[in-house]
Parts: sequence; structure tokens; C-alpha cells
Amino acid sequence: METSIINETLASKDEPPLSGTEQTSASGPATALQNSAPETPSRQHPKWNDWRWQIRNRIRTFQDLTDFFPSLRSHSSIAKVAEKYPMAITPYYASLIKTADYSDPVLQMSVPQGQEMFAPDFLHADPLEEEEDMPVPGLVHRYRDRALLMATTMCSMYCRHCTRKRVAGYEESSISVCQLNEITNYLHAHPEVKDVVISGGDPMTLPTSLLERILMAVRSVPSVEIIRIGTRVPVVLPQRITNELTQMIAKYHPVWVNTHFNHPNEITPEAQAACAKLANAGIPLGNQTVLLRGINDVPQVIEELCRGLVRMRVRPYYLFQCDLVRGVEHFRTPISRGIEIMEYLRGRLSGLAIPAFVVDAPHGGGKIPLLPNYLVSTSPTNTVLRNYEGMMVNYPEPVEPMPRAPATSPALRTSSPGVWDLSAGHASVIVPAGGQRQKRRASRKSHRTLAREDQHPEFSSLLESIMSDTNN
Ligand code: SF4
Repeated sequence: METSIINETLASKDEPPLSGTEQTSASGPATALQNSAPETPSRQHPKWNDWRWQIRNRIRTFQDLTDFFPSLRSHSSIAKVAEKYPMAITPYYASLIKTADYSDPVLQMSVPQGQEMFAPDFLHADPLEEEEDMPVPGLVHRYRDRALLMATTMCSMYCRHCTRKRVAGYEESSISVCQLNEITNYLHAHPEVKDVVISGGDPMTLPTSLLERILMAVRSVPSVEIIRIGTRVPVVLPQRITNELTQMIAKYHPVWVNTHFNHPNEITPEAQAACAKLANAGIPLGNQTVLLRGINDVPQVIEELCRGLVRMRVRPYYLFQCDLVRGVEHFRTPISRGIEIMEYLRGRLSGLAIPAFVVDAPHGGGKIPLLPNYLVSTSPTNTVLRNYEGMMVNYPEPVEPMPRAPATSPALRTSSPGVWDLSAGHASVIVPAGGQRQKRRASRKSHRTLAREDQHPEFSSLLESIMSDTNN
């Protein structure tokens, strides 16, 4: 059996050993942690700022949850849902719940709901088809120059809206030594990959020495230019952002961190301190928000969130339309709500504070940015634009026509042209493969060919005599 790096590293001298049950589990530390009785999530607890104590005392069962929030006892479906989609809430994140019912945004993002069992056909366990784009286990390679490394299946808190519900928390484990070697070999063999995102689960739940091993392995590939870490730790477990961690990360620069704040209630003094530590270590910070019904689907809430983020030196990067993931239907909003929010933000916030609204397309189509339409009309001489107020302006185009943009060099060309190649005049058509019309056209072509070859001999001789008469 392969060695999970978690087990190997937890026993190493470099990492302060995790206490008691944390070191014993074959499937990662928290499986054992969930067996220990959680302590009351009191901010007065002497170990409140110890991230390991926070992980050890996560709320994992219906019993734990109702001990802390007795008003949830009537929601018996919570236990059933948590069996299918694991629950874990750090005491810190639980302390952000202001009202112990489903009107509270923090509670909604962390406490299971009966609606998670609703599973219409159009929802899938892996709607982005990440597993299809995995050339080696644990590495998603979709876009030419980027790859995503799944470092662990563990998170400190299991978000109810998670896109990776299929893996997050089922068995809390880490990438194995063998997998990391295989991934590193793949990256060496694919120098076109310039940007590696370390994701999970949440990679910052790993011991520092293990995260360092992963960073070191990726950094050993000369063609990798930047490393990104995707984490919700600054939001749900800010105590994890220690000086030891940030100093370690800084050794592997350029490293960027993308975090995941969804609501202004998550912007607390603790989260601010965590982001400040990361920023002070020279780590640029971005944020990915998921648009969630009943949580942040109001323009003013997103505005407040974005203002809070830039105050913490975190650049709002993406506002994601909720993916078509099984178990999250109750969180989905229509796409039009995202467009409305973007319309509201423009003119109220600086461009720096406005995220890009994107749909991560089903079937592995990748991110598709969506905006309100600001282009009213265009001609070779003039373009009519509207601004956020509805004002319409003419933008005169340059008098001298522009030369055509240079074509993509053959070395960088993908196997088929994209829309840019069409608009720049470097390709004339993109034909979707396998369409019914294309199949009909292909079969008509072969019919024509067949008609010439298979025509009746009498018809052929008649045709020949006519042709020879004509020639005479
Ligand atoms: S932290 Fe990320 S991977 Fe983990 S449950 Fe939340 S969204 Fe999913």
C-alpha cells in the first residue's frame, strides 16, 4: 500500500508532533480526531488560537452540533445528510454564527440541510469533469499552461456548496509519495505548464513540513513559473496562518494565495490578521466567491464583501456561478442574478474591487466570463458604448486601419483554432465535431461520390455518347 505523506510527515522531527489520536489514523488525522469529544467552542478557551486544537475540536456529528446549538435538534435530517456529505465546523467558524437557524449565512455554509439530498439529473458529482482531465492521479491538466494539484481531501470546514463534494472529507488523506513523484515527472515532461495551483481539499490543513515538500517538488520543475495555493483557511481557520507557515511559503516565491470569502460576516479581526500575515510575507492574495442563493445573492452584500476584501489587501478575483454539483441545487441562482450584481458594482466600486463573474462550464468547458452588455453598436469607424448610468457615447475608431494581429506561433498553437483565431482572421471556421448536420453533410458527400462510381452502365454509355456529340 502507498504511504500517505500525512502519516509519514506527522511523525517527522521537523513538525511539532500532533498530540494523541492525530498521529494514528491511516486515512489521515481527522478520522481519529472526530472520535475525540469536542470541547465547548469558547473564545475564552486557552487553546483557542492553536490551529491544531481548532481542528481537533471540529463539530463533526449531529450530537456535537446540537450540544452547541440546541435549537437545531428538530432538524433531524442533518444527521442523514452528514452521513452522505461529511460535516466539519471549526469552533472558530461556529463562533461566527449569529443566529442558530438557516437564516444565518455562516450556518447555511457549514451546517447540512435536507435539500442536499435533492438530485435532479442535470447535477453531477464531477460537473467540471476534472477526473477526465487527469493525466496522472491527483493532477488536473485542462488549460495548456496551468495544472491543478490535489494535495489532500481534507478541509478544516466542509462547505455545503463545495464543488468537490465527491472527494472532500470522505476519507481525510493526503497525496502519496508515489503520486507526488508521478506528478513531478509529468510536470518535467510538460514544460508548457507554467502555473501550478495546489488545491484539495484544503492544502493549508496539511502540516507545514508536508506542504513544504509539495512546494519543493513543484518548484524543482524549472518550467513552472508561479505556484498558487487555493485555501479557505484564512476564512474558517485563520489561526493556521502562523509566522512559521508564511516564512516557509515565502521560500518558494512567486507563490500566490487564492482564498474563498463569501460573506462580509467572514471578515473578522482574526481573518484580517491572517491575510495581513500572508500579504506581509509578499504573497499576493486573491479571492474566489461563489454566488449562493440566500447567502450573498444581493448586490449590496457583494459590494460590502468586496470593500472588506480590498481593505485586507485581498483582490476580489472571481465571482463564480454555482456549479452544477449534486447536493447544491438549493444554493443555485439564475445566471441573470450574477449579471445584475455586476451591473450594480460597476460605477460603485473601483475596478480593483470588482471580481470577474464566471461560469465554470459543465463538461470541462472551462471558465466563461460574463458581463452586462456595454457595447451598443460598432462599425469600422465608430463604436457606441454605454456606461453604468445608461449614458451612451461614441468612441471614434482610429483613422488608420490596424494591421492584423500576429498569428499564434506554431509551437504555442493548440490542436484546433479558437474564437480569437477567427476574429484575427487566422482561421475561417470552427466546426463542432459530431454534430448531426456535419454527419449529414459528410454522408451526402459520400453519396455524391458513390453516384458517379455506381451509376448504371447504360446510363454511363448514354452519357459518354452525349458528351462525345457535344465535343464534336
Ligand atoms: S474548503 Fe474548498 S475544498 Fe474544502 S469544502 Fe470548502 S470549498 Fe470544498
